[in-house]
Amino acid sequence: MIEEKAPTRTSLAELGEFGLIKHLTEGFELKNPSSRKGIGDDAAVIDFKGEKTLVSTDLLIEGVHFDLSYVPLKHLGYKAVMVNLSDIYAMNASASQITVSIAVSNRFPLEALEELYAGIRLACEIYNVDLVGGDTTSSTRGLIISVTAIGHAPEKKIVYRNGAKPNDLIVVSGDIGGAYLGLQVLEREKAVFEVNPNMQPDLADYTYIIERQLKPEARKDVPPMLSELGIKPTAMMDISDGLSSDILHICTQSGVGCRIYEEKLPLDPQVISTCEEFNLDSTTIALNGGEDYELLFTIAQKDYDKIKGNPHFSVIGYITEKNEGEMLITRSGEPFKIIAKGWNALKE
Ligand code: ADP
Ligand code: MG
Repeated sequence: MIEEKAPTRTSLAELGEFGLIKHLTEGFELKNPSSRKGIGDDAAVIDFKGEKTLVSTDLLIEGVHFDLSYVPLKHLGYKAVMVNLSDIYAMNASASQITVSIAVSNRFPLEALEELYAGIRLACEIYNVDLVGGDTTSSTRGLIISVTAIGHAPEKKIVYRNGAKPNDLIVVSGDIGGAYLGLQVLEREKAVFEVNPNMQPDLADYTYIIERQLKPEARKDVPPMLSELGIKPTAMMDISDGLSSDILHICTQSGVGCRIYEEKLPLDPQVISTCEEFNLDSTTIALNGGEDYELLFTIAQKDYDKIKGNPHFSVIGYITEKNEGEMLITRSGEPFKIIAKGWNALKE
């Protein structure tokens, strides 16, 4: 008879703080020449020679930003890195280092943190970034994880949110709305499971959107692609809160308005079919669903030919004078004022 093995649970107290840090971070090797000193001293040392340094940080709290009842820890580690790298790419820069700080309650065994770090490690490998430091401490409840991403770019390549000009084209990479819908599917399955724990979810119809939610990929490929096409966006940011609130950031900071065309919004077929099933309006989801980590940018009209027909990019509208407002033009040609309905951590 084969006995089923219970998963090993090693208490964090057994290792102590330094043992834990060593255990979690061993096997991370420095790959970038700019990483002069990584983990192990009082501070990391980074050298970008003549280039500018970019820094971005995010804080993720259990129960606010993630729910461990359906988010595997490995995915959480991966995603925590992605959301930060995405911010560096959104400046048209390269990401090269991260630091990771965690606060954990003693409810978590070592094996849970190993999973978290397996996701972080995978992200570092695939995205060619070095883990160069962090902090480890205890929390009274739940898991808190903060990642800081560090990157670099020549000053003249950096793209801010404030450079969009009237008549510029508005472009989005990939497709949008999937991550939010993936979350809706996961929440529904969680509710079903709570009623009947024997129910096995069948998620085959939702693989793409669930992956968009659980394992987002930051658009590392976009800055070099734009560079190869000979395009420097006039403004850029990543879509984390949702297209509606993010385009408004560009408009506000650039002092312009915009027209976005409903028919141009890039939607995956699975987003359309799932919206039908959930009785949701796909345009609303594309506008307000967040966490897609695609890039939203504006380009000069003269660059249109360089991007036309490119499968990675969709032109969804154009920038107007500020007094024309921020408008969505529906399929039937009706204009609607765009309002920010994306995720806002301090609202509600
Ligand atoms: P300090 O007392 O100076 O804060 P620590 O003992 O907290 O140093 O950390 C020792 C080394 O391990 C430092 O290089 C720090 O950046 C790194 N480190 C600590 N915690 C983590 C973590 N969770 N992930 C990655 N590196 C970490
Ligand atoms: Mg410390």
